[in-house]
Amino acid sequence: EPRVFSGIQPSGNLHLGNYLGAITKFVDLQESYNCVFCVVDMHAITVWQDPAGLEQRTREVTAGFLAAGIDPTKHIVFNQSQVPVHAELGWIFNCVARMGWLNRMTQFKDKAGKNRENVSTGLFVYPNLMSADILAYKATHVPVGEDQKQHLELARDTAQKFNIDFADRIADLGYGVDNLNRDATTDPEKVFFPQPEPLIGGPAPRVMSLRDGSKKMSSSDASDKARINLTDDAETIALKIRKAKTDAEALPSEVEGLEGRPEAANLVGIYAALSGKEKAQILGEFGGSEFSKFKPALVELSLDKLSPITDEMRRLMDDKSHIDKILCEGAEKASAIAEPVLDQVKDIVGFIRKA
Ligand code: ATP
Ligand code: MG
Repeated sequence: EPRVFSGIQPSGNLHLGNYLGAITKFVDLQESYNCVFCVVDMHAITVWQDPAGLEQRTREVTAGFLAAGIDPTKHIVFNQSQVPVHAELGWIFNCVARMGWLNRMTQFKDKAGKNRENVSTGLFVYPNLMSADILAYKATHVPVGEDQKQHLELARDTAQKFNIDFADRIADLGYGVDNLNRDATTDPEKVFFPQPEPLIGGPAPRVMSLRDGSKKMSSSDASDKARINLTDDAETIALKIRKAKTDAEALPSEVEGLEGRPEAANLVGIYAALSGKEKAQILGEFGGSEFSKFKPALVELSLDKLSPITDEMRRLMDDKSHIDKILCEGAEKASAIAEPVLDQVKDIVGFIRKA
């Protein structure tokens, strides 16, 4: 049975990259899948979080989901720490995934920088917790931005290694399902975990920083001017776009002309994603124009598309107990799916549990 899982960290501000790269896709997928959307607070604490701020941002991300159009009555919306299965399965995956796999994760290298000795150990094993998030629901499809591609591959490798390491036991217990796309030389006939497919496309799989076209827009970027937050007011959004870094040339009239111009490509990409038009069409309109003409149009479009969401988020944030109730009910529904999966994993691994 196909199922979607995805998560967003309450680690900073919900920003335009999260919105275009992830949340808008979540909204569309609701039509055709059963979906589990998680505010991953346990991932957030891989870097220091002020406790009151973490509570506030967990509610903010939840409000963002709801304001964008996610329906918590038809799908599941919850915060990760309320479902202990994630932590338990995460530990088991710490013992399945290999050091070498994690050593290759570019996000760790980027986030740790030169500070390797002094980052939390959680930051290093974070991808294993992410594998647990996905596989606890036996999710088959994972909508994410492009930056998560490598972590998704690791989740696939972890599922496969678990399936192979425990193949005999999975078969003995009768917990497997037919392995349809099996490579007869390595893969067992029955598998426990499906291979989760990343869903990466969409109009803006990688929104870049407004200050540096070579870095992705990120909630953990120290510079707030680098991103558009869904909580920014109209004036702030306008100012950030007006101040966004660009080169000195006019916009090209063909898409090829954006090559080697990362800042220009990013702003045109954002315009395309927000308007639902092709880049070519936008350059047809704005080709030959200076940024002094394009930026005000982008400001207007951004405010048009984002302010209804921002306003609704603010409204929802006024009633914290309503948000907490949604998270709590979501956690119950999530546990109902994930606990039986973990029970079977415990049987497979050889952990004794109460009958
Ligand atoms: P951090 O920098 O702390 O990792 P983040 O901005 O990457 O935060 P996450 O919570 O890690 O936010 O990511 C949530 C989702 O948003 C993921 O699916 C991720 O791929 C997507 N995403 C994050 N940044 C971008 C971006 N700049 N463009 C497109 N998608 C993005
Ligand atoms: Mg991230």
